[in-house]
Amino acid sequence: MGRLGEPAFRAEQLYHWLYVRCERDWDSMTNLAKPFRQRLADTCAIGTLTPDTIQQSQDGTRKYLFRLSDGQVVESVLMHFQERDTYAVCLSTQVGCAVDCSFCATGKLGFKRNLSVSEIVEQYLFVQHESEKEVRNVVFMGQGEPLLNLPNVLPAVHLLNEAAEVGMRRMTISTSGIVPQIYTLAQEALPITLAVSLHAPNDAIRGQLMPINRKWPLAELMPALHHYVEKTHRRLTIEYILIDGLNDQAAQARELGKLLHGLRCNVNLIPYNPIHQQLPGAPMDYRRSRPSAVDRFRQIVSDYGKKVTVRLERGADIDAACGQLANRL
Ligand code: SAH
Ligand code: SF4
Repeated sequence: MGRLGEPAFRAEQLYHWLYVRCERDWDSMTNLAKPFRQRLADTCAIGTLTPDTIQQSQDGTRKYLFRLSDGQVVESVLMHFQERDTYAVCLSTQVGCAVDCSFCATGKLGFKRNLSVSEIVEQYLFVQHESEKEVRNVVFMGQGEPLLNLPNVLPAVHLLNEAAEVGMRRMTISTSGIVPQIYTLAQEALPITLAVSLHAPNDAIRGQLMPINRKWPLAELMPALHHYVEKTHRRLTIEYILIDGLNDQAAQARELGKLLHGLRCNVNLIPYNPIHQQLPGAPMDYRRSRPSAVDRFRQIVSDYGKKVTVRLERGADIDAACGQLANRL
């Protein structure tokens, strides 16, 4: 603002318009003088994302497909939870993903590139701008592995918190288990929630589902999780996809209960969302667990003293549910 010959408080006004009000149009910034607004419009653009398509699911979930300045596309998902009347947005942190879990559509895209700090934050700002209600919860569970883009994800977390006023306690970062970066994140000791995609109680099954397990098997991941809790005093979320006959048996639930013994965590069970069979490499033989198997699994893990929830499926009809983000135009 100084360079433009404007008083310093203009910067604060702009900051408020851009991050708190999530405004995307200079002309709506009514407490700025008209000639100044015109000057801004002539010289600056707000953000770099262009919405390509916005789809609405029968359950109210909205999926945003954004075009980035280099022509790549990436998705975000807005979810409404009726019971608590809260809104949460699921942000992407990379275009595609290199981790290549067998069950995930994003993995089938391969890794294209990291998103910048502004590309991550702007997904939130755009979705909030469009939403009538306040979007108070942010989950980093869209495309990509957040811990493989930590140098951009961390500043995005801080910007969302300090500028856009999203509480840290309302943010969740989900990871497939990138061990060195779990230690790095522990160092920050942020009051966010770390969610860990475990999906199996042993290396044999986990290795089959997630190639990353060969690099960082459970013998390395579990100590990293204990360290994280020790450093941050935060309770982890353990995510566990249930796939029929593959990892949903009673014996596996008991094995999980034992594996998690002594770890401060809740368990979130995710019935598998089938991904489009046309995607190259899509698993043909994965099916969602039967409701009776989900119930049994939940009961057994609860008996080991864990709080277990079953994730509500959102937006499956528009390919917006967990693991279905594949940038289909
Ligand atoms: N890369 C991070 C965050 C993005 S994925 C991670 O893997 O944790 C967010 C969650 O969706 C993860 O728990 C992931 O395992 C899960 N997921 C991926 N594919 C899925 C599918 N087909 N059905 C259900 N959940 C899926
Ligand atoms: Fe990547 Fe997460 Fe999908 Fe695995 S589940 S391929 S880590 S986005």
